[in-house]
Amino acid sequence: MNAIRRLQEVYSPGEARAVYRLVMETRFHLSMTDILLGKDRELSPNDLAEWENILSHLLHGMPVQYVLGEAEFRGMRLHVEPGVLIPRPETAQLVDALLQEAAEGCRVLEIGTGSGCIAVALAKAGCRVTATDVSPVALRVARGNAADQGVEVDFVEDDVLHTRLPMAMWDVVVSNPPYICQREAAEMEPLVLAHEPHEALFVPDHDPLLFYRAILELAASRLAPSGRVYFEINRLYGDDLCALARGMGFVHTALWQDSFGNNRFVKCSR
Ligand code: SAM
Ligand code: GLN
Repeated sequence: MNAIRRLQEVYSPGEARAVYRLVMETRFHLSMTDILLGKDRELSPNDLAEWENILSHLLHGMPVQYVLGEAEFRGMRLHVEPGVLIPRPETAQLVDALLQEAAEGCRVLEIGTGSGCIAVALAKAGCRVTATDVSPVALRVARGNAADQGVEVDFVEDDVLHTRLPMAMWDVVVSNPPYICQREAAEMEPLVLAHEPHEALFVPDHDPLLFYRAILELAASRLAPSGRVYFEINRLYGDDLCALARGMGFVHTALWQDSFGNNRFVKCSR
């Protein structure tokens, strides 16, 4: 209890309880029942030292997923570390939508794979996946996650703004690219701003669709005729993105919301 009170220096009471439970379960294999029985007050001296170490990172504002080295995504435990974006629940909704329409063995290209959460989830569901990122750290982490989950993904280092990807054909292109404008930083959570990689998050204020344009251009020449492009988007630019896609020959566009009611996903096809 005392521990939860200390966590409230950086978390709301509800978050503090959730973070405490997560740490106890992940690191010390203590269930909710164990905590109710007071087993968390009987940690060995080694475990206690580890807990103090974890607590000090948390009190310095490091996201709990980085402190524990793992994040949950669609029932998988994926390794994450600073330099790689922590997977978000919205992104799991993007994967769900894509899978509803994907045939077995569907050829997928993911741009900006980060932890590999999208690529690994799709490969687990039977898609044949190529995934790119410009960040070597992300590719190392994503490769490890694919191996841990027992799936094969073809990971390629590539800068989508100057792509060198081959002219292969894909049935689906999917991306959750950087989409937060620099001017939006002021409204963001300090924890995210201080610890997550800015090159995974931000686009210049003057060109919020920078990555979407590059991905649609790439898709225009590498997508099978009946292929589809799936995006996670900045809720402010859904209509602009649909207009851009239509201007580039993707006549069918659909925009839908995440579970918080924000415009969050776009699908385009020709
Ligand atoms: N797919 C992961 C997810 O959904 O959690 C990560 C998404 S993160 C918002 C965007 C990713 O795009 C980062 O991993 C970043 O390194 C990568 N990225 C940034 N600029 C890029 C570029 N020019 N070419 C390819 N990938 C890029
Ligand atoms: N959803 C992430 C956030 O709110 C941003 C992801 C992105 O830029 N693609 O921090």
